[in-house]
Amino acid sequence: MSNLDEFRALGLSEDMLRAIGTKGFETPSPIQKLAIPVLLNGQNDIIAQAQTGTGKTAAFGLPLLERLEPARGTVQTLILVPTRELALQVTEELLSFNRKKLSVAPIYGGASISEQLRRLKRGLDIVVGTPGRILDHIRRGTLDLGQMHYLVLDEADEMLNMGFIEDVEEIMSHMSEDRRVMLFSATMPDRIAALSKKYMRDVEILKVLNQQVTADLTDQIYFEVREADKFDALTRIIDVEPDFYGIVFGRTKVGVDELVSKLLERGYAAEGLHGDVSQAQREQILRKFKKKQVNILVATDVAARGIDVNNLTHVINYSLPQDTESYVHRIGRTGRAGNQGTAITFISPSEFRQFGNMKREIKADIKKEQLPSVQDVIAIKRSKLQDDLQEVIESGNYTEYKEMAGEILKSYPAEEALSALLRLAFKNELSESHYPEIRSINVDRRGKARIFLAVGRYDGFDARKLVDLLKRECGLPDSKIDDVRIMDSFSFVTVPFSDAEAVVRKLNQISKGSQPIAEVAKDGMEPGKGGKGRKSFRGDKGPWGDKGARGGYGGRGKRDGAGDRDFKRGPKSGYGPKSRKVSTVKRSGRK
Ligand code: ADP
Ligand code: MG
Repeated sequence: MSNLDEFRALGLSEDMLRAIGTKGFETPSPIQKLAIPVLLNGQNDIIAQAQTGTGKTAAFGLPLLERLEPARGTVQTLILVPTRELALQVTEELLSFNRKKLSVAPIYGGASISEQLRRLKRGLDIVVGTPGRILDHIRRGTLDLGQMHYLVLDEADEMLNMGFIEDVEEIMSHMSEDRRVMLFSATMPDRIAALSKKYMRDVEILKVLNQQVTADLTDQIYFEVREADKFDALTRIIDVEPDFYGIVFGRTKVGVDELVSKLLERGYAAEGLHGDVSQAQREQILRKFKKKQVNILVATDVAARGIDVNNLTHVINYSLPQDTESYVHRIGRTGRAGNQGTAITFISPSEFRQFGNMKREIKADIKKEQLPSVQDVIAIKRSKLQDDLQEVIESGNYTEYKEMAGEILKSYPAEEALSALLRLAFKNELSESHYPEIRSINVDRRGKARIFLAVGRYDGFDARKLVDLLKRECGLPDSKIDDVRIMDSFSFVTVPFSDAEAVVRKLNQISKGSQPIAEVAKDGMEPGKGGKGRKSFRGDKGPWGDKGARGGYGGRGKRDGAGDRDFKRGPKSGYGPKSRKVSTVKRSGRK
């Protein structure tokens, strides 16, 4: 498999290619193919449009990192993003490619001004910021855009939705003549066109057309699951399908390798395929997979190209594919040649939006389901044990152990001896308490979402007033508003998930000119619910000003993927799926 050739062809340096390789990307996404060459060369301003989740950050990030040299003086590049969360994400993505050691920092409302001032004084090359706080610094004279060569407007449509347009315009009016503007957005509302007419020059428009596709070949379902719970969710699915034979799609090489080693650690028979796997290894792995010596193949999209296996029971999107087209490619691998197949997609909260878009484009019905419970898993494992036991007894294929059994029975009563042997064979595998809990996420079973508002009692709100606000500003009927909780400087309310985005947007429109006041609550935000309450909320006053809105949520929360708990089970129990032969067990798993 040609390594990073497609990235190389875009004109990126070998050093950058190494960083890309380490990161685990294999091929550029469509918007990256369009934007990278233009941004590496040329001087035009650009407007780039591509769906959410298609790698727009790297599309502007890689060329920027190539073109800039570390100076640590006044800011050379300003990247505007709509939220604190995105400021952190974009910063992190840039740092992951930062071979030249450019100084990059996020600057957003709610964080300590003095720390930001210190950083600005020390000198920064790239600032990733939210418009309100950036404007603040410009007005205080602590951020000088005189040397700013590049301005990126990232998620421009979202900035617009959140009422940041005036701030963005004002920031643009401070730009010097010698600068290049790069606007990235998933959609192109008219106001963006107007903005570009006013502040951009020689605009080149780069647009990735949305694929119109239909895919109705396979049973398609999805599970909402936290990033950190994906692994346990996967094992449950495999555990309740004794004849599981499938491809699990990961997004990066690193992701694939990690997943394979975790599966092996727990005794599953898995192999991984990605761009770093040599042709010889690849052929060997595929042979093993076709013979079902391994029943789980973990692969990246590229590596899975050209694999033709007909009787897969499952395709699992462990991470969302880059775009709708690859979704269709992926799931097209099951349900072939008249075989029944299931395509399963895991959706973590950060993937909701992209998946929502995808679902709309794909005309087939993708149904939401609940993960198999621990009880389901254990019931299946038990009945599997009984089947296997019966099979061995019928075959008479155990005589070499007869003498040993006799000796054991001389020392212990039969029931004790057998129980202890089961314990040895299964460790904790058949006891419920040993399975990590998979917590439901904030979109609850009823399809409701919890919304965080940066206004509370100090702002004169009580439950009544908040309900009135939602009714008046968002047109929500009483029946859709639930579980209002008012604290001193913030509040929570539950609304149907389908309304959540619109509610957040409307609330942020009425707070326009300042920081957004509402967002879909993330886990751990709400004191006394699940995560730790964040006492630093308290004292964030003046929520319509810069401070309150995003103020106070401590760090970023758990990092996705981190914190996976490990089974403390012996690495190989001998009864793990690896040693199983396929036999049929009534499926009591998914309903
Ligand atoms: P967008 O801004 O278009 O919504 P992001 O830039 O946030 O998308 O990228 C979404 C995810 O895809 C990120 O985790 C990013 O690291 C990953 N990604 C970006 N480009 C690639 C690529 N070429 N190959 C694999 N993963 C990629
Ligand atoms: Mg983005």
